[in-house]
Parts: sequence; structure tokens; C-alpha cells
Amino acid sequence: MTEIAERLEELQDQGLHRRLRLVGGPQGPLVTLDGNQVLLLCSNDYLGLANHPRVKGAAAEAAMRWGAGAGASRLISGNMQPHSRLEKRLAAFKGYESALLFGSGYLANTGTIAALAGSGEVVFSDELNHASIIDGCRLSRAETFVYRHGDVEHLSWGLQKAGERAALIVTDGVFSMDGDVAPLVDLVTLARRHDCRLMVDEAHATGALGPGGRGSVAAAGLSGEVDVVMGTLGKALGSYGAYVCADRETTDYLLNTARSFVFSTALPPPVAAAGLAALELLESQPDRVGRLSTNAATLRQALTDEGLAVGGGETQIVPVAVGDAKATMELSGQVLERGVFAQGIRPPTVPVGSSRLRFTVMSTHRREELQHAARAVGAAARELGIGGDRHAVAQLAA
Ligand SMILES: *Cc1c(COP(=O)(O)O)cnc(C)c1O
Repeated sequence: MTEIAERLEELQDQGLHRRLRLVGGPQGPLVTLDGNQVLLLCSNDYLGLANHPRVKGAAAEAAMRWGAGAGASRLISGNMQPHSRLEKRLAAFKGYESALLFGSGYLANTGTIAALAGSGEVVFSDELNHASIIDGCRLSRAETFVYRHGDVEHLSWGLQKAGERAALIVTDGVFSMDGDVAPLVDLVTLARRHDCRLMVDEAHATGALGPGGRGSVAAAGLSGEVDVVMGTLGKALGSYGAYVCADRETTDYLLNTARSFVFSTALPPPVAAAGLAALELLESQPDRVGRLSTNAATLRQALTDEGLAVGGGETQIVPVAVGDAKATMELSGQVLERGVFAQGIRPPTVPVGSSRLRFTVMSTHRREELQHAARAVGAAARELGIGGDRHAVAQLAA
């Protein structure tokens, strides 16, 4: 047996092996999965924009006008009107002076964090931050102080210890696997007090929280107070790519020094055009955001009524605690048999012992669909004798 085969077998044994599944057709409340129609409850296309005629039309038009690809990094020959128009619009939407596009959220986080902190400095990172933030911290070569989830006292202690070496605090706005929101007001206060930059990742917050879907920073009334706001175009905005909003000096600095910006091809023009069309739709139809939060509340309530341990806050990300990785995958398999497609989330995405079934709601789900899904999950959990695990729910962010 090769070493790789051995490692794969180990993953199998631990219930940690992953595989791809083929989804037929575009994202929507219902999709076909391996030939069967299922209710989709694991897409980040929160507002149903990935398949919206205007978004698709904008992409098609841009493809005909600007071509399929950008041809180079934007600093070489790839900077086109769709990119700069989208940046202007994003900056205005978020209430910032300037925005800079990146190829993806992963690239935005790794490039930005590594540009804003370096060796001899300290980055402060919430323990439940997204993997792309963790990797950005690693790439920066700064010392990383991982503070306990949402624990501002722990963070404050770390900041005091670091003194002048404190360079950057970085956090998810809405935590991607738990659905709770970072204590942003306290983070701004601490950043000010310690003369340290604050960066917030709004991948799951843009289009979902705040006035008109402007995000968690806007929801907390902190637009402009948070130094760097990162967001993605691939989730609620239905397309692909990411952006960083900040003052012009900072985005100019990132344009010059963020390696994932400098050394990577620009977003394809159809993708940028789709992002812009989605943003325009969000601005003209803000009721989509309200429907998303109503749907989130419906699913949370329906799952709770089934006796399941629902963690997190009030957002569209709804985790149901299981604990064990294998049991989680069994539950997700049983739920799928009942026509509901949700993802079991296991280590290394979440800490060991905190595996969960994670639901994401879309504004386009009907109330009955969400209630049906909750009943299916409840029935599957009872059959397997899992769910409602008090110990496991304690492991979810409260
Ligand atoms: C999805 C996600 C990213 C990565 O964004 P991509 O555009 O998918 O690369 C970064 N941060 C968080 C919190 C995310 O959920």
C-alpha cells in the first residue's frame, strides 16, 4: 500500500474522508443530486442571485464584449472597466473610500493579512476564523495569538502582552460554521486602544446582515471604523471573487504588496460583470435580505421544535450539534435519503468533537420546504438516536 493510500484509509476510518457530488443544474432551492431531486440546504447562494436572469445576462454580455478571460494580472494588462466599475460600487455600498478586487476570498485573506503584518509583529485571530484567515496568518510570518472564540478579555490580555508589536486583529463577521456574529463594537474599542488595525471578513455577512445587506460591520454601525472590511462575491452575490474595502492608502498599499493580487490573473470580466449586476439587484431589491432572515428564523424554530440542539445566533447559517464525525455523516446520509441535502461538517473544518450538520438557508426557500426539511432531520435523528446532544451543543459557539 502506498503512503497516500494509507493516509486515505486513515481518513476513511475516522469518518473524515470527503468526496465530490455532482449537482445537476444551477443553484436553487431544489437541485438534482446524483439524479434525484433534493431540497438544497448547503448553498451559500443566499439570495438566489447565482441563477438570476439579470446576473447571467450581465455575464453573457460581458463575455461577448470583453472576452472570457482578463489575460493577465490587473497590474499587467488585465485591468478592465468591469473591474473598476465593480470596485467603485462596492466601496460606495460598504461606505468606504476604496475597494480592491481579489480572485477569491481565500486569496483576499491570505494576501491582505500577509501584507498588513510581518515578522516581529503579532496578529490576533479568533479561534473559529475561516481557514483562509489562518493561512494568511501563517503566510505573514508574524506571531499569531489565537484568542478564544469571541473572548474580548482574552484578546485584550494578548494585546497588552504584545504592546507595540500588535499589528492586526482579524475576525469573521459571521462565523462560517457556527453562524454567530463577532463582538465588533468591543473589537473596535480594543483596536483603537492598542493602536492596532482591525480586519473583518464579511463572506457570510454581505447580503445577509445590516441595512440593505451591507454586512455585519454596517449592522453594528461601524462602517469606516473597522479599518479593513473583506467580503466575497461568491456567496450572497452569486458570482465569484472577493474584495477588500479600506481607505485609499491601504488599498494602494495592497495593490502594491499583496502577493495574491500582484501575482494572480484578474477576475474574468464576465465574473466581475455578474458581481456588479448582483450588487445592483441587492440595492434595488433589499427585501431579499429580509426574506433570508425570516427563512433562517423559520428553520431554526422548526429544528428546535424537533428537539434538535440548534447552535449559533440568528443568521442564515444554522448548525445542528452532533459531536462525533461518523455520526454526523450518518445523519447527513439519512437526511439525504429523505430528500434534504445538508453538509456534515467535520474536523479539520471544526474542532474535534464538535462535528455538526450545517444548514444554510436561501431567501428563495418556501416556508413549507424549510418545515419539511426540519421534520425530515428530526425523524432521521430519532431513528439514529442522535441530535439534541447537550455536550455537543456546548461545543458550538453559543
Ligand atoms: C467562503 C469563505 C472565504 C473564502 O472565500 P472564497 O471566495 O470562497 O475563496 C473566506 N472567509 C470566509 C469566512 C468564508 O466563509
